[in-house]
Amino acid sequence: MNALDKFRYSKDDPSQLNISLKKDPYEKVSNNKTNNLNQLLSTSVKVSKEIFPNIYSAIENVFNRLKIKNNLNFFVTANHFQTQATCSAMPLGDSAEIILTSKLVELLNEEELESIIAHEVAHFYYQHALYPQPNSTKNRLEYLNLLNFSRAAEISADRIGFIGCGSLESSLRAMLKITSGLSEKHLKFNFSSYLDQLRELKEIKGDQNLMYSTHPNFLNRMQALIWFSMSNEYNKYFNTDKKGTFDLKNVDEKIYESIKKVIGDEVEYSNKEVVSRTLMWGSIDIFLSDKNFSKKEQEIFKKNFGDKSTESIVSLIKISNPKSIQEKIDNTFEEASKLLNEDKEKIVNELTKLLKVVDGDTKIAERTIKKIKTNLKL
Ligand SMILES: [Zn+2]
Repeated sequence: MNALDKFRYSKDDPSQLNISLKKDPYEKVSNNKTNNLNQLLSTSVKVSKEIFPNIYSAIENVFNRLKIKNNLNFFVTANHFQTQATCSAMPLGDSAEIILTSKLVELLNEEELESIIAHEVAHFYYQHALYPQPNSTKNRLEYLNLLNFSRAAEISADRIGFIGCGSLESSLRAMLKITSGLSEKHLKFNFSSYLDQLRELKEIKGDQNLMYSTHPNFLNRMQALIWFSMSNEYNKYFNTDKKGTFDLKNVDEKIYESIKKVIGDEVEYSNKEVVSRTLMWGSIDIFLSDKNFSKKEQEIFKKNFGDKSTESIVSLIKISNPKSIQEKIDNTFEEASKLLNEDKEKIVNELTKLLKVVDGDTKIAERTIKKIKTNLKL
């Protein structure tokens, strides 16, 4: 297992979105040459040893450290405003181009540039281009969850940025330079004072707008990287002389909580709300499989969801036709299909427990569970 596979941030887990990755990111699946490459070749300068020796050696250093194959094309494009690098890997395509802006190259020293190059390589290697774009959905829950994924992808890529340049300080410096747009002439690299800014931001309850951002705040990213460098796994893998302070699992949780403090917990809250609504309507679906909500089943329902909900559901069933009840159930599952797989599994596990207590034919109830799984796209 190479460092990239080992250190992917655990919240950046494509299986939670039912995305299956190519076994090998370099695997050739299509022969289509993209328009993208044609356009780049005509408008940007391709990095070669002869034209940009420094950038070329930075790229070589990165691939040597990451111990992976380099079949990517690198370009520099004139842009004096944006301190950006992008990796444009076509989903299912076999090639990727990494584009560095002139401002980025001017601003960073070689080691800092290596961290950015490795960050972009990580996006390619991790196949982040396969993640659906948050803007591609009109469903709010899905939109928020996809934004969470996009932010998690950045945390993974930052780690590889650090490993690929071999220096924590250079990675952090690159983040500061990119965020401020300023060179070392103006910056003093006192990291603890930047982390004070994070503390301050959390104290004023974060910045809710960040919930809609595809990238975590730079303060969160710096803190995440510092924590990662303190993990047992990182220090062991690279034989540093230091002993780690946290397990990586622990680090991942800390990062998740820290980002949540800044963006607010609405995403988590929305997910939880949908889970509990789905458990309720799912229970009704199972209890009604035999078209009879028996007294015993009502008692169990009451225990799980309270007197008030039970009363209103019982009267709703009395006055509505079964078709409209089923419609409500189906709508709930439609919404729940946008949850992460771990939440869907939780729902199915809970609902499966009801098989032991249903009145009537368990075979019919089992079929309902199967249908629920399909509706949840699990
Ligand atoms: Zn990125």
